[in-house]
Amino acid sequence: MSGLGKGITAASIGRILKNRGFAVTAVKIDPYLNIDAGTMNPGQHGEVFVLSDGGEVDLDLGNYERFLDIDLSSRHNITTGKIYRSVIEKERRGDYLGETVQIIPHITDEIRSCIRSAAEEGIPGEGPADVCLVEVGGTVGDIESMPFLEAVRQMRGDLPHTDTVLLHVTLIPEDTMGDLKTKPTQHSVKALRELGLLADLIVGRGERPIGPHTKRKISAFCDLPVQGVVSAATVPDIYQVPMEMEKEGVAEVLSSHLGLAPVKTNNEWYSLVSREYTSRVHVAVVTKYGIEDVYLSIKEALKHAGRALSTEVKITWLDAERHEEHPLGEFDGVLIPGGFGKRGLEGKIEAIRFARTQKIPLLGLCLGFQLSVVEYARNVLGWEDATSAEIGEGKHVIAILPEQEGVTDLGGTMRLGNYPVTLKQGSLAMKIYGQKEIIERHRHRYEVNPVFLPELEKGGLVFSGIWKNRMEICEIPDHPFFLATQFHPEFRSRPTRPAPAFLGFVEACSSQRCRG
Ligand code: GLN
Repeated sequence: MSGLGKGITAASIGRILKNRGFAVTAVKIDPYLNIDAGTMNPGQHGEVFVLSDGGEVDLDLGNYERFLDIDLSSRHNITTGKIYRSVIEKERRGDYLGETVQIIPHITDEIRSCIRSAAEEGIPGEGPADVCLVEVGGTVGDIESMPFLEAVRQMRGDLPHTDTVLLHVTLIPEDTMGDLKTKPTQHSVKALRELGLLADLIVGRGERPIGPHTKRKISAFCDLPVQGVVSAATVPDIYQVPMEMEKEGVAEVLSSHLGLAPVKTNNEWYSLVSREYTSRVHVAVVTKYGIEDVYLSIKEALKHAGRALSTEVKITWLDAERHEEHPLGEFDGVLIPGGFGKRGLEGKIEAIRFARTQKIPLLGLCLGFQLSVVEYARNVLGWEDATSAEIGEGKHVIAILPEQEGVTDLGGTMRLGNYPVTLKQGSLAMKIYGQKEIIERHRHRYEVNPVFLPELEKGGLVFSGIWKNRMEICEIPDHPFFLATQFHPEFRSRPTRPAPAFLGFVEACSSQRCRG
């Protein structure tokens, strides 16, 4: 079922295999009818993750990129919407001429060919993969996931036995007496079997680890050897999951099933995640949704930077509409994330004003960048009616991108994905990145209005990152750390390669703490 940790489980398994020298890629299947996650409400579905090629995808793709340290492409997120669109387009073109177009075989064939083409793409920009993880979202037995599970069954039948391995992630709940219950697992395994699928490995998720007794019981009821039953209890840090799975012998079961002989073993990941923290900072993230999942990549990027600096980052998620309840002066840094729409904007602008005037480190991302410009225009230049065209009437220091004018479709039409940015010599941005040309991911419709640019610059706001005539980074000199970016550095941050903007921010928060 959703929320169980299938994505983290699969990503961790991928990491274990990568640690052994295998090239690993991943595909996420989302059985909903949306073409992609771009138009979905993050409050319900979690963050919309953005790929290098501009794909707006499920947040699990972010987990795959972070655990495997690879860049994926849109092809690696398959949805029912994409499958049906493609089949219907083929039907209209006449590709199926004469045939009655049906779920089996046409939809299942399309699913198989999409899985295959993503697997064959391997690691985008790098080369072929030894192993492709395919995560089927949803719940066994759901109507929506049926065609996908059927396609998996067909593929398993077609390929040599040792080419595929099937993992089933199940919930192992505890009853009121504290006993672990295997009944839900027995039922879902039965449901899988009815679809012609036999699990080679069962991953039992729960708050508590499952012991030998429970494992034996699952093994007996579900027809698989006891080594095929793996305990996956909740751990404080998701990056520890590969270590836990390693201890459970998952790598051995998978390697023997798939006939993979390890190339080399690399323990870099394990030493990274077991590093001790020597200091701590407290950061406020001023948000529209008080839900962590909406800002998952930001949370992870702060963790990556913190880990590299041996600094534990404690995050408080503040509601932008009620942030006065929590005085910002208590924090070592303020982060203003991206967002859309009007709600909570004035609170975010007020938080930026506070961080600017009280000299608290500030990192603004996308909407956070745009509002930093609005705040500066209002409170430093004295343009009281300065605002963004997205908000309403007034002096539009933030305007719609020219190419966005007249765009009516919402799906996949923003300025999306990788664009280069050139940094200004001698700026804070240049110091943080250590190079003049960078590439970052984007997702926006608005930009700094070029009409007001000369006056904003004359008034002291420094635009230290640009792309053509587009402003990408702003900073304020004479402040311990005030950096805001039109792009989203959080999407490229990895545990093994923290995003420079986050590293700079967490470092500034540490210095702030020492000063305070
Ligand atoms: N709403 C703003 C825009 O579309 C900011 C987008 C964002 O924060 N991702 O430009």
